[in-house]
Amino acid sequence: MISKAKAQHADVLVVGAGPAGMAAAIAAATHGCRVLVLDDNAAEGGQIWRKGIAATPDRSESKVRDTRQATLRTAFRKSGAKLLPGRRVVDAPRQGILRTIVDTPAGPIAESFAWDRLILATGARERFLPFPGWTLPGVVGAGGLQALVKGGYPVAGKRVVVAGTGPLLLAVAAHLRHDGATVVSIAEQAALRRLVPFAASMWSHPAKLKQGIRYRRALADVPYRIGWWPVAVEKASSGILVRLTNGKHTVAEHCDLLACGFHLVPNTELAELVGCKLNGGAVEVNEQQQTTVAGIFCAGEPTGIAGLDAALVQGEIAGLTAAGQTQQLSALSRKRAKEIAFGQRLNAAFRLRPEVTLLSAPDTIVCRCEDVTFSRLQGHASWTAAKLQTRCGMGPCQGRICGPAVQSLFGWRPTSVRPPIFPVPISAFGNNDSDSLEELTVFQETQ
Ligand SMILES: Cc1cc2nc3c(=O)[nH]c(=O)nc-3n(C[C@H](O)[C@H](O)[C@H](O)COP(=O)(O)OP(=O)(O)OC[C@H]3O[C@@H](n4cnc5c(N)ncnc54)[C@H](O)[C@@H]3O)c2cc1C
Repeated sequence: MISKAKAQHADVLVVGAGPAGMAAAIAAATHGCRVLVLDDNAAEGGQIWRKGIAATPDRSESKVRDTRQATLRTAFRKSGAKLLPGRRVVDAPRQGILRTIVDTPAGPIAESFAWDRLILATGARERFLPFPGWTLPGVVGAGGLQALVKGGYPVAGKRVVVAGTGPLLLAVAAHLRHDGATVVSIAEQAALRRLVPFAASMWSHPAKLKQGIRYRRALADVPYRIGWWPVAVEKASSGILVRLTNGKHTVAEHCDLLACGFHLVPNTELAELVGCKLNGGAVEVNEQQQTTVAGIFCAGEPTGIAGLDAALVQGEIAGLTAAGQTQQLSALSRKRAKEIAFGQRLNAAFRLRPEVTLLSAPDTIVCRCEDVTFSRLQGHASWTAAKLQTRCGMGPCQGRICGPAVQSLFGWRPTSVRPPIFPVPISAFGNNDSDSLEELTVFQETQ
C-alpha cells in the first residue's frame, strides 16, 4: 500500500530568500498570509548578504550595508514568514505544487509544497565565457570567489587578477583586498565610451554613485584597465600567467588566482518550468510583478539584472500584490520604474563587446561538465542539434554555465527546460513523497 504523502501548504510560497524573496515574504506575511520561503542556502540573505556583509571597503559603507541588511533580516524574522532553508526546488510536478530536495542525516529526501500564489525570486548567476586556459586550476568566478571568501576561504597574501565585466568586479576586488589579498589588476572589458555616460547618469542614484566612488578609492593604487579583457591563462612556475589585451596591446600578469566573470544571467529555469514567458532572456512581468501565468509572480534578478534596490522594491510589490494589497503600490511603482531604468543603463554599459565572444581556440573546452570543445560545436545549426551530437549542456550543471556561453558564442538559446532542473540523487525518490503524487494530500500547518 502506498502511504499518503503530504505537501505543506502556503497561501504564498516564495522561492529564494535573497533581498527580493525576503521583501516579498515580509510584505505578504505582514498582511496576514501564511508564507513559506524555500531557499537552497542555509540562511536567508541571497548572494549579496550571504553569510555576513557584502564587500565593504570602508567602515561607513559597511555600516550602511550592515544596517540595511539587519533591518531587513529583523523584519523578515518578525513577519511570521517561515523560512525553510536547505531546500532546492527541482520540479513542479503539477499545477500548484513544487517539489524540493533537502539533505537530511538519512540522505536526501523529496518534499512537496502546495501554493495558492507563488513568488519566484531565484536571483541570477555569473556568466562565464570560454578562452584558452579558463578551466585551469586558479581560474574562478569573481562572484564565486567572493562567496568562498564569505564562507571562510583564506585569500590573505594571494595575488589575484580580477577580470570580465560588470560592477561586481569592483565589489569583489574591494572585498578581496579587504580580506588581505593583493589585487594585481582589474580588467573591465566595457569600453570607456559606454562607461562614461553610465557614470554620468548616476547622479540620480547618489547612494550607488557613492558606493562606486568608495570602491574606486579603496582600490586607487590598483591598475583598473578599462577596455581590457582576458585572452588566455597558462600555468606558471608559481601560480598562473594571465594574458590581458585591449585589442592593440597585450600584457601578462602573474598571479595565484584569476577571478573572472562577465556580468550576470537571470535564473529563469524554474519560471520556465512553470510556464512563465520570457522576454529577452528574463521573466516577463507586468508592473505588479505578475508573470504571464495567473497566480505566479517574479521579483528581483530573474526579471532582469538591476541590482539590490530593484530586487527589494520588486519583492515588496510582488508580496503586496500576492496578498491583495494593491492600493499601496503607486509610490513603489515610481521607485520600481527608476530602478528598472537604472538596470537598463547598467546592462547597456556592460554589454559584451564582440571580441570577448571570439576568444575560443578549437580545443578550448566550452562545456566543462562533458568536456565539449569549441571545434565540436562549430557547424551545428542549433543548441538542440549540438546537444544531441556532443552532449553539450547535458552534464551536472545542466547548461547553467555553458548555456549562456554558447548563446554568446553561437546565438543559440536553450529550447526547453526539463525537470528536475537540478541534478537529484536517485535515492531521494525512495521516500514516499515523490513518486505517489496522485496520493498527495495537502496539509495546512497551524501557526
Ligand atoms: C555570485 C554573485 C555575487 C554577487 N555579489 C554582490 C555584491 O557583492 N554586491 C552587490 O551589490 N551585488 C552582488 N550581486 C548582485 C546581487 O545578488 C543582486 O543585486 C541582488 O541583491 C539580487 O537579489 P535577488 O533576491 O534577486 O537574488 P539573490 O540574492 O541571488 O537570491 C536568490 C536566492 O534564491 C535561491 N535559489 C535560486 N534558485 C533556487 C531553487 N531552485 N531552489 C531554492 N532556492 C533557490 C538562491 O540560492 C538565492 O539565495 C551578486 C550576484 C551574484 C550572482
